[in-house]
Amino acid sequence: MSQPEDLPAIVAQVHHDMQRHLGRGKVADYIPALARIDPRNFAISIVTCDGRTASAGLAHVPFSIQSISKVFTLTMALNRLGGALWSRVWREPSGSRFNSIVQLEQEKGIPRNPLINAGALAVTDALLAAGDVDKTIDSIRAFLRRLAGDPSIVIDEEVAESEADTGFRNASLANFLRAFDNLQSPVEDVLRVYFHQCAIRMNTRQLARAGLYLANRGVDPISLGRVTTPFKSRRINAVMMTCGHYDASGDFACRVGLPGKSGVGGGILAIAPRKASICVWSPGLNAWGNSLVGSMALQRLTALTGWSVF
Ligand code: GLU
Repeated sequence: MSQPEDLPAIVAQVHHDMQRHLGRGKVADYIPALARIDPRNFAISIVTCDGRTASAGLAHVPFSIQSISKVFTLTMALNRLGGALWSRVWREPSGSRFNSIVQLEQEKGIPRNPLINAGALAVTDALLAAGDVDKTIDSIRAFLRRLAGDPSIVIDEEVAESEADTGFRNASLANFLRAFDNLQSPVEDVLRVYFHQCAIRMNTRQLARAGLYLANRGVDPISLGRVTTPFKSRRINAVMMTCGHYDASGDFACRVGLPGKSGVGGGILAIAPRKASICVWSPGLNAWGNSLVGSMALQRLTALTGWSVF
C-alpha cells in the first residue's frame, strides 16, 4: 500500500492506471451539451483535512455537476429544517432507477431518499419555501462558491434550458409529489430551481474542496467555518453511502467503501471521513448512470490508500 502522505504519487498512479480504460462507458446523451463531451476526459482531485491538495488529469476543466448538487441542497435543507425534513423524504436506499415513478406512487409521495430525483425535488421545494426561484438559485450557487472558496463558479444556462426542455420524467415526479401534498411551491418553480442546481459547472478541484466539511464533522478544516453540525454531517455521509449511487449503491460501497455521490455529468464526490474529500470525473456512465471509470478510479484509490471505511 502506498503512503497516503504521498498524495501526488497516488493521484498520478490512479491516473496512469485508468489510461487504458478511458473512453469506456456511455456519455449521457439526453441533452446536447452533455452528449458532446469527450468520453476520454478524466480528472481526479483530493483535498485533505490537513489542507494538502493533489490532482491529476483535467482537474481545471469544469463539467456539469448534475446530481452531485443534491448533497449540497440536502445540507442546506437540513440546516434550515433539521430533523423535520425526514417527514418529507426517507433515508432508505431505493433499489430503483434514479428517476423511478412507480415507487413514488406506491409509497404515497414520500421519496425513498434525498439523492434520487424525487427526493431531491422535495428537498429543493423545502429550500424554495424561504424565497423565490431566483433567490433560491442564487443561494445554492452562493453556497457552492463559499464552500469551494471560488466566486467564479457559474450555472450553464444552456444545460439548464435543455434539462427543462427534456425533463418530462422530473416533471412527472414533481406532479406526483404535489398530488400527494409533498410539494408546496408550484411545480414549475421547483423544476426550474432543480434544473439550475444540476447545471452548475465545477471542476474536480472545486468540488473536492467544496465537500471537505463532510470529511471533518461539518466544519471546513481550512477556513474553520462551520457548515453544518457533526450530527447532520454524519447523516449526510450515511445517506451518501447507502443511496449516493442509486440502485448501484451497494456495489459502490463494496468496491470503494466511501460515502459518495455521482452525477450523470460523470463526476463523483467521495468522502474519506476524517481524512479527505475526493472528486473524480470521467463522462462515460455504466448501466446505472454512474461514472464507469470514475468508480474504478475510486476503487483503485482506496486500494492504494486504505481509506475505505470498512
Ligand atoms: N439532471 C439529471 C436528471 O435529473 C440528473 C441525474 C443525475 O445526475 O444522476 O435527470
